[in-house]
Amino acid sequence: MTSDVKELYQQLIVDHSKSPRNCRVLEGADASAEGHNPLCGDRVTLFVKLEGDRVKDLSFQGNGCAISTASASLLTEVLKGKTRAEAEALFTSFHDLVTGHGAKDSGPELGKLKVFAGVSEFPVRVKCATLVWHTLRAALARVQQPATDADAAHAR
Ligand code: ZN
Repeated sequence: MTSDVKELYQQLIVDHSKSPRNCRVLEGADASAEGHNPLCGDRVTLFVKLEGDRVKDLSFQGNGCAISTASASLLTEVLKGKTRAEAEALFTSFHDLVTGHGAKDSGPELGKLKVFAGVSEFPVRVKCATLVWHTLRAALARVQQPATDADAAHAR
């Protein structure tokens, strides 16, 4: 990676951490989940609205470091309109990227998510970058189950 590209990536992370996109409670969300990264103190709540198998809308609220906030912000942009399977494939590629295993050629195009490639140089930051993805999976797993009063209360 050239230093110019690195600079550009850092700027995008700073931009998303200072002005996070879709940072709000999602009205009428089908599911939500909370994630916590005790290593850094990051907290995130993710809201998902589905249309059949597709993510129709998503948003988040959180309190964390620049990496976790930027990751949540970019996730809400990138995953809008994706199916569950596409989201799962992106998670795998993203996880490979930030853990330094390199995105597999067969995986989906990560696009903007590539800005987190530098995280692989800082293993302690990997959990910051992946927190919102784990939270998304927890939220999606909840939708498959029949809605209960407990879930409704959790969605607030
Ligand atoms: Zn963090």
